[in-house]
Amino acid sequence: MRTIKDLVRPNIWSLAPYSSARNEYSGHVAHVFLDANENPFNGPYNRYPDPLQEELKERISSIKNVPAENIFLGNGSDEAIDLVYRCFCEPKKDNVVAICPTYGMYEVCADINDVEYRKVLLDEDYQIKAEKLLAACDANTKAIWICSPNNPTGNNINSEEIEKVIEQFDGIVVVDEAYIDFSNQKSFKRYVSNDNYNVIVLQTMSKAWGSAAIRLGMAFAKEDIIGIFNKVKYPYNVNALTQEQAMKRLNDPQAVSQWVSILLQERGRMVEAFAELPICEKVYPTDANFFLAKVEDAQGTYDYLVEKGIIVRNRTRITLCNNCLRVTIGTREENNELLGALRSMK
Ligand SMILES: *Cc1c(COP(=O)(O)O)cnc(C)c1O
Repeated sequence: MRTIKDLVRPNIWSLAPYSSARNEYSGHVAHVFLDANENPFNGPYNRYPDPLQEELKERISSIKNVPAENIFLGNGSDEAIDLVYRCFCEPKKDNVVAICPTYGMYEVCADINDVEYRKVLLDEDYQIKAEKLLAACDANTKAIWICSPNNPTGNNINSEEIEKVIEQFDGIVVVDEAYIDFSNQKSFKRYVSNDNYNVIVLQTMSKAWGSAAIRLGMAFAKEDIIGIFNKVKYPYNVNALTQEQAMKRLNDPQAVSQWVSILLQERGRMVEAFAELPICEKVYPTDANFFLAKVEDAQGTYDYLVEKGIIVRNRTRITLCNNCLRVTIGTREENNELLGALRSMK
């Protein structure tokens, strides 16, 4: 296993981070704040938010069962994805390895940061062998991306293969669990406080938690990785409105379980109904709040649905997804509208 110091870009390792007014005074009880050039009027929004979101992390810690010091919060998971490159990957020198097809942001952020992105094709069941991922690595590979349940395929990646990658790769393994609440796969967050591994687990409030608008992503990792992320992130990366709304949402976890159980029931119904459609050639197994379906003519079906005001995702141009549509599970009424439209398609 390479140490975090071995993996971090040298300029980031030696970086002296920006020190904000809110960082510097901590530890004392104070009531007059004349340190941050804020306007004293228009409270509470006149004040800069907590740069490390401590109250929110305590709440997430108790819900997710991950120590607060192993949590990074960002402006969506997308911030954590970008930080992996900015912190660990030297442009034009280092590379990352990822399954293909998968979530598009890993490659976009690699391109933005000028980091080589190596794709390893999934098999026809949308699965991967650890050996194939490991064989794509070399001494300059800093991270391996695994998304499970995977987007856009919808299925869990085999746990044993992910475990093998974690055990055998000496760099960082990122497991993106954006859809974990819809899956019965056990979270890989159990690896993050173990110093023998370099694992980052990504979760988000955008899916099961019903809060895509507030942009709150979570990265679970060991303390030295969290420390590097905190040093590189924008000082106030999670705004006060987001922290406030996230607290409200987290204080009602029962609503989330209810939504998830409704969506899982609807998922079962939709997968069955789709399989019966004349235009549908195959519905792929799903462990997420969406499914991938192979149809006779994805573009034609997509265009037909747009005409009816129904938008699904056309994935036909994605590797291994020829003529595939990705369908998110909606409310019962929305799902019925989609089925009705497809049934009356000539
Ligand atoms: C939707 C999604 C996310 C969520 O990203 P946010 O920036 O947190 O909204 C992350 N990873 C995958 C694979 C996703 O599909």
